[in-house]
Amino acid sequence: MSAIKRILVTGGAGFLGSHLCERLVAAGHDVICLDNFFTSQKSNVSHLLGKPNFELIRHDITVPILLEVDEIYNLACPAAPGHYQYNPIKTMKTSVLGAIHVLGMAKRCRAKVLQASTSEVYGDPQVHPQPESYRGSVNPIGPRACYDEGKRAAETLFMDYHRSNGINIRIVRIFNTYGPRMHPYDGRVISNFIRQAIQGEDITIFGDGKQTRSFCYRDDLIDGFIRMMNGPDDFCGPVNLGNPGEFTIRELAEIVIELTGSKAKLVARPLPADDPTQRRPDIALATSRLGWQPTIALREGLQMTIDWFRSIDITEYRPPTPNY
Ligand code: NAD
Ligand code: UDP
Repeated sequence: MSAIKRILVTGGAGFLGSHLCERLVAAGHDVICLDNFFTSQKSNVSHLLGKPNFELIRHDITVPILLEVDEIYNLACPAAPGHYQYNPIKTMKTSVLGAIHVLGMAKRCRAKVLQASTSEVYGDPQVHPQPESYRGSVNPIGPRACYDEGKRAAETLFMDYHRSNGINIRIVRIFNTYGPRMHPYDGRVISNFIRQAIQGEDITIFGDGKQTRSFCYRDDLIDGFIRMMNGPDDFCGPVNLGNPGEFTIRELAEIVIELTGSKAKLVARPLPADDPTQRRPDIALATSRLGWQPTIALREGLQMTIDWFRSIDITEYRPPTPNY
């Protein structure tokens, strides 16, 4: 086994964070999971609570905290549009103050720190697919700006701490990622469609359903996180992590209906403001520098996600906000 490290995962009880904690605990590291449980719940990590190398802290990352660590994965931030728009000022504070607090901790502890950024930094992209060199097309005053601009400002802070203070940083830009343990009420398209399909509710297509997204299975993504953290120090990113397969939202709905055998029907709902029309990662950089590429195709990943949704008791999940 490689050297044992003390690793902080902010947002560690969330969908991606809980899987990352699981992987790091299994590798023998001492893992601290920090979360305020805004969009998650303790059950995501309850199976880790008895492990001697896992610790759970309820804390809000907008407030500084004193911890001694070797590595930090900064994931704390609501990720679904309905939830990050619920309290947009808090969302911006979480990205900006959260970045300042983890960077300050990294500076004090000489720790390495990875930022979970997003394809949303490209906004509604005019370049397709999106390479890291594309600077994006974000509306700075729209309803998605609290998230998009918050994540952009966090990238700026990471680069400035790196240039000014020599902090060892990593930035990953995550494209839509899905899988078991997504919150059934997070309002994102895959969790909505699967929940609606298995409960026999109408499947809500926003707009004409011709907008596209690229969906990455969570195990591929977590593998990319770990490769990036352990990759060469001269490669701090930003690097795109996502699956280049591109699907319209209508195609996605049809695949979910087919795989669930649901009789649910598609219904149109208004397209939310500033909803990107297309999105697909260019992953050439991740492939050449990290030897990374996704391995799990959409149908395979969806089947595993559907099986998980069928295995849970959805009534045990509390909607984080009314927006799902
Ligand atoms: P998630 O909502 O399941 O996880 C986010 C976690 O952060 C939750 O556990 C939430 O309670 C916690 N959190 C929110 N605000 C906090 C605060 N102020 N202090 C402490 N904890 C806080 O979402 P996820 O999909 O697991 O996303 C994890 C990270 O990856 C986020 O930063 C998100 O922006 C980023 N990301 C995810 C995707 C995706 O498709 N899943 C895409 C792009 C970026
Ligand atoms: N979407 C949809 N129906 C839903 C939820 C989402 O048609 O019930 C659409 C949404 O408008 C967007 C796409 O699916 O075009 C992906 O939405 P999601 O919220 O998952 O992520 P993001 O827009 O941040 O990529």
